[in-house]
Amino acid sequence: MKKRKVIDDGPSLFPEWNEETEAEPGPAAEEVQTKSYDHTALFERLAQSAFRSKFKLSAKDKAYIQGKGMATIRSHAADFVAKRLAPAVIPNDGKQTPMRGHPVFLAQHATGCCCRGCFAKWHHIPAGRVPTAEEQQYAVSVLMEWITRQV
Ligand SMILES: [Zn+2]
Repeated sequence: MKKRKVIDDGPSLFPEWNEETEAEPGPAAEEVQTKSYDHTALFERLAQSAFRSKFKLSAKDKAYIQGKGMATIRSHAADFVAKRLAPAVIPNDGKQTPMRGHPVFLAQHATGCCCRGCFAKWHHIPAGRVPTAEEQQYAVSVLMEWITRQV
């Protein structure tokens, strides 16, 4: 299997994401898929941000999503949220999410779920503590809503 090259413009705390290191979703990620949210107001706010609204899925991203299926993409999103966004202390916060390499990374930038600074600003979930399981589920639902609107 070909490795996906992930381009990052800064030193990263986290290992680069690739197919081989793709983790299985944890139990927390699996038990929190049922609640539904209304993200209408959020997406109206995001549409007014020139920075957030410039992110678009490429044809390659869309083909990747189609190949994997939404359930798998959701499990990737839950994994990235748990490992990259949820830690209470992230030394390189603001730099931990690459600008490409996985459609969920794009979704994170597009929706203000890319780092704890943006997560606090856009979603009012404060930095400095681990988000609750419900808050992590909320983040995943935002990411999946963005992806669903893009494909
Ligand atoms: Zn950010």
